[in-house]
Amino acid sequence: MIAIAGAFYRELEMRYDTTFWHPIPLAAIFPTAQEAGIWQLRLKDPEIAPLLEQGPSSDQGLEQLPQPYGHGVIKRCGWLDVQAFQRMHRERWSASGDLLERHVSKSDITAIPGGVRIGEHSAPFVVYCEGPFSQITGLVPVRGEGLTVRIQGLRLGCAVHRGVFTLPIGYDVYKVGSTFAWDNVWSGPTPEAFRYLTDRLERAVERPFEVLDHWAGVRPASRDRRPILGRIGAHEAVFNGLGSRGVLLAPWSAQHLCDQLFSNTAVDPEVDPKRFS
Ligand SMILES: Cc1cc2nc3c(=O)[nH]c(=O)nc-3n(C[C@H](O)[C@H](O)[C@H](O)COP(=O)(O)OP(=O)(O)OC[C@H]3O[C@@H](n4cnc5c(N)ncnc54)[C@H](O)[C@@H]3O)c2cc1C
Repeated sequence: MIAIAGAFYRELEMRYDTTFWHPIPLAAIFPTAQEAGIWQLRLKDPEIAPLLEQGPSSDQGLEQLPQPYGHGVIKRCGWLDVQAFQRMHRERWSASGDLLERHVSKSDITAIPGGVRIGEHSAPFVVYCEGPFSQITGLVPVRGEGLTVRIQGLRLGCAVHRGVFTLPIGYDVYKVGSTFAWDNVWSGPTPEAFRYLTDRLERAVERPFEVLDHWAGVRPASRDRRPILGRIGAHEAVFNGLGSRGVLLAPWSAQHLCDQLFSNTAVDPEVDPKRFS
């Protein structure tokens, strides 16, 4: 997926003449000697070895972190500045009149010959991209929380994973996350997650930090952690189940759904909504 996603965001950067896709290596700090041993086995696995590196990578910030058992490096990683990306998309599609932002109820959707109508707009299909608000079978909403922090002078040039990920986004600011909770998913930020994240970060960086923000969201996960993509009626389709990897999965998933709807290609059974019925 990383090759497909990276190419997709790169192409959009060129179209919008801006930057929102940031390739960056990820250092996985081993919490135990056993984890370090497992990494050695992964380096021999032909499917994932091309993505990995033995470590250590030469990064000034990484060298300052405690790592008694060392680290491994995942070479092909990247992060998307989702807000910048959405801003550009919004401007483009709103300007052309193709994006209207409003709540759509079931009763707003009318079946017409060969398609559907919502207000004065008609189309061959309605695609439900409702995220965790959907009631579709197989969907499991999962709350996640994270922090935005300032760590003066650490100057990490790579993302780091040790219990939680720490991602440098510039100017000594880092995203730290995230948690997974299956109960009370609409609670918003919780003190338990705050304690968990600050505790993990303290252990990972062993230096003072300032919490700038504590955020929460709900992931639209599926029971088998695969997307849910495809037709659910003659003129209805679903695009959901992106779980904790929307950025990575969305480009492939959107193409796969378009191929089904407009070129009549077969749905990949791993993502077929019917697998849950
Ligand atoms: C804490 C946290 C950390 C995460 N970290 C990562 C990460 O590092 N990498 C990654 O790739 N992903 C991450 N994710 C997951 C990512 O956010 C999701 O995979 C992604 O948002 C799913 O996209 P979506 O469009 O399917 O659903 P959503 O982003 O939930 O969007 C659904 C939209 O549909 C709208 N909607 C629903 N019903 C209606 C209706 N009837 N009418 C009009 N609008 C409607 C909602 O308002 C919403 O805007 C994280 C999520 C959380 C919570």
